[in-house]
Amino acid sequence: MCCSKGMDYKHDKYFLCSKLAPIFRVICPLHVKATGIDSIKISEHNIGHINKLHPAIRKQVTELLLSVQKLGIRADIKASIRTIEEQDVEYRKGRDENGNDIEGKVRTTWVKGGYSYHNYGLAVDFEIFNTDGKKNWDFSGYGWQTLITNAERIGFTSGYRWAFPKNDPPHIENSLGLTTIQLKALYENGKVKNGYVIIPKVKSNNSIS
Ligand SMILES: [Zn+2]
Repeated sequence: MCCSKGMDYKHDKYFLCSKLAPIFRVICPLHVKATGIDSIKISEHNIGHINKLHPAIRKQVTELLLSVQKLGIRADIKASIRTIEEQDVEYRKGRDENGNDIEGKVRTTWVKGGYSYHNYGLAVDFEIFNTDGKKNWDFSGYGWQTLITNAERIGFTSGYRWAFPKNDPPHIENSLGLTTIQLKALYENGKVKNGYVIIPKVKSNNSIS
């Protein structure tokens, strides 16, 4: 089997690789290098999510997806933008009316509506699949570590780095220099275009204009 780890390929396996690629949407990097084929496309599923993100990060997310797909890693966007109302629904999961944990239920988020970068289209949750189609949960393995380091190189913060229990390996975000409190204020003051907060220039003292 090729195209699972982006390594251990032999030249004579390229044939197998090109046959598998359309099925798993992966292609071995040596195959790309040897043939010059660079036909890796972003899937319709991922394009749908990218188009919902804040316009300021769409190009970065596209670049990230292409960078891992070229290495034979199949990454799909699981969540992109989440409205403030949807965030409040998430926040209520696993909590009672007073915000306390309900025994036996699992919380799905730490923050209320307006305090997640997802609410402004500035965060993405990923999932990665192995070549057999099963989900990859090995966050310290090749696929996830490549996604995380590439995301950081492109300018994202990775939830993988956050301390337990708030660590969130599938999550990346780009604050664009703003806190969620600042974004919330801009949103509530109508500094919005096409549903997205208009990102102001950040001054050196971190106050916004
Ligand atoms: Zn997330």
